[in-house]
Amino acid sequence: MISVFGSANMDLVAYVAEAPKRGETVTGHRFRTVPGGKGANQAIAAARAGAHVAFLGAVGDDGFGAEMRATLAQAGIDVRGLREVPGPSGIAHIVVDDEGGNSIIVVPGANGTIAGPSGEDLAAIARSDALLLQLELPMEAVVAAAQAAQVSGVPVYLTPAPARPLPDELLDAVTTIVPNEHEAAAITGAAGAEAALDALLERVEEALITLGSEGALYGSRSGERLRVPAVKVEAVDTTAAGDTFVGAFAVARSEGMSVADALGFASTAAALSVQREGASTSMPTRHEIEAALP
Ligand code: ADP
Repeated sequence: MISVFGSANMDLVAYVAEAPKRGETVTGHRFRTVPGGKGANQAIAAARAGAHVAFLGAVGDDGFGAEMRATLAQAGIDVRGLREVPGPSGIAHIVVDDEGGNSIIVVPGANGTIAGPSGEDLAAIARSDALLLQLELPMEAVVAAAQAAQVSGVPVYLTPAPARPLPDELLDAVTTIVPNEHEAAAITGAAGAEAALDALLERVEEALITLGSEGALYGSRSGERLRVPAVKVEAVDTTAAGDTFVGAFAVARSEGMSVADALGFASTAAALSVQREGASTSMPTRHEIEAALP
């Protein structure tokens, strides 16, 4: 079983020729709501990739919260750890212009009310084969969850997004850090993926830097170092490619696959996701991943 302690947001996406300036009103041509948040996305990615998943987080007492819960449950995810708190759910307000540029406002809402894992969360984490964390919950809550997993010997995968300074007490409890190349550069200040990997390994046991269409770079303190190329595909929408990658990688490792095989599994899953529109809607099933494996 894989636990994800993280954010659930409703993405409110408006498509418009040009984003409005201050004081301006413009008419958009399309709008849609999409369940998202890095926590929920990773939970769905891991569930589709074949794991039993428990989602630990919070939504508000509004319609978005009910929709998020239903979406996660429909994906077969255990939502007993998804609490409902008074007030609004987390949202991401996204404006996409005709050139594909976007601007985003995230309002944490219920996500921001999580001070730490509850007693039930701690019990779920202790029973897990892996814990997936991101940085869309308050830092003290993320640190407490990581430390609880460490005490129980549960591997912790951290996606350090949105990028922000990482306290030692967090990284001391993380097994594998999985930044993209921009996050890796922001965290380490190093130029280039190889240098960033070296810098990350000074602070964490294992690091995996995703490099978009260039693939991924893995390293561990034991000296293992692997580079996987991305699968050559026609990318339509790379939203949540990283969440698909980390979800699939954690599932593969928790099943006992070697690092090399898990990297191939995750690259295949992520390559399938970039060929389809959307975030959770683009994530492949176990069957699809296995059918596409080289
Ligand atoms: P994020 O979505 O967090 O920014 P990346 O862009 O690094 O993460 O993508 C994560 C993974 O998704 C990559 O390591 C790769 O395996 C896969 N991927 C991303 N973009 C492409 C692409 N254009 N073609 C094939 N695979 C891709």
